[in-house]
Amino acid sequence: MDHFQYRNGTLHAEDVPLAEIASAVGTPFYVYSTATLLRHFALFDDALEGLDHLVCYAMKAASNQAILKTLAQAGAGMDVVSQGEYMRAKAAGVPGDKIVFSGVGKTVEEIRTALIGGIRQFNVESEPEMAVLNAVALELGKVAPITIRVNPDVDARTHAKIATGKSENKFGIPIKRARAVYAHAATLPGLKVIGIDVHIGSQLTDLEPFEQAYTKVADLTVQLREDGHDIIRLDLGGGLGIPYSRSNQAPPLPADYGALIKRTVGHLGCEVEIEPGRLIAGNAGLMVTKVIYVKSGEGRDFLILDAAMNDLIRPAMYEAHHDIVPLVEPTPGTLPHTYDIVGPVCETGDTFAKERALPETSAGDLIAFRGAGAYGAVMASEYNSRPLIPEVLVNGDQFAVIRRRPTLDEMINRDTLPAWL
Ligand SMILES: *Cc1c(COP(=O)(O)O)cnc(C)c1O
Repeated sequence: MDHFQYRNGTLHAEDVPLAEIASAVGTPFYVYSTATLLRHFALFDDALEGLDHLVCYAMKAASNQAILKTLAQAGAGMDVVSQGEYMRAKAAGVPGDKIVFSGVGKTVEEIRTALIGGIRQFNVESEPEMAVLNAVALELGKVAPITIRVNPDVDARTHAKIATGKSENKFGIPIKRARAVYAHAATLPGLKVIGIDVHIGSQLTDLEPFEQAYTKVADLTVQLREDGHDIIRLDLGGGLGIPYSRSNQAPPLPADYGALIKRTVGHLGCEVEIEPGRLIAGNAGLMVTKVIYVKSGEGRDFLILDAAMNDLIRPAMYEAHHDIVPLVEPTPGTLPHTYDIVGPVCETGDTFAKERALPETSAGDLIAFRGAGAYGAVMASEYNSRPLIPEVLVNGDQFAVIRRRPTLDEMINRDTLPAWL
């Protein structure tokens, strides 16, 4: 459920008509609903009630500080994957002891920043990283709390580009080698082993792969404890999928996911962390865009938008589906028209949807992409020298620009010319 509904014939974000935001900030833009963000966070938090737990929002999904602060004030921790994300979380007021640091390629600089600024734990992904982390911690006179990310070799049954838990993926250490790697970690004085980490992929629409992975983690917890390790925390990753299409079968509910966690690892007495990103932000955001031209081709009509693949890359990158709806509610009985919906960039990949049914649409009409809150704005680029589009946050009847549209001059003047030109 989200808070983008038609009221009085026009699409609203909570109590604000989207057309009003469009007049204020221009198109295209991203808009997020505070109520939806909070609702999704609460679903996870409630699902783990009874367990000692922390929901660490995977901020790579949507990392605007206003979003982070909204969630942090509700009690969320953060899962970060870079120094930039760490600093952003800090800037949004998240304390270091609620930030976990994930990622396969943490640099010395990133590790140093987090150790100095404070960190809940590093989720270590390899032995070389372990060695570097140990060295940096010793140099700073600190001890780094770690979990080790294990790769459970389960098939997440999701898009190949976002599956991370098979042995051929670059993530984590093979679970078969875990005991040896934990034994090694225990000998390094700059590290304190506190737990196990796992993350098997994104947009999972089935609980079965989680069940397999978490069962393996539970078995490993018992083994590692027998080996003498003090396993007190399990980080179970993110990955729960969202309904991108209203006509599809609904993915599992956070409550069922929570019950699965309790069933598989609840008896171990560990503190449990989860790292949802997409499910918190995905359906809490829309991208609103204007139709520039309606072009009739041979056997098909195109809607050419002022948004392009550089603004929302998911369709080009993952063949992702987004429901696309007009801002003006179609009157009952309106006959749908079929359009290919494309951006202005000179690449065939700049196609958002093919043969999509919409009411008859004209140049100047506004339409919205649903489910664009996660992996939308954060993956945008300035390809074709198109400035990054603004982000807006709605809260009840208020809205605020939380990242403004840069001027063309601001974008262009970041270039510097060498002396010889
Ligand atoms: C991407 C990622 C997440 C979040 O995944 P979602 O599918 O957005 O929930 C969580 N943890 C790690 C380590 C990730 O890489």
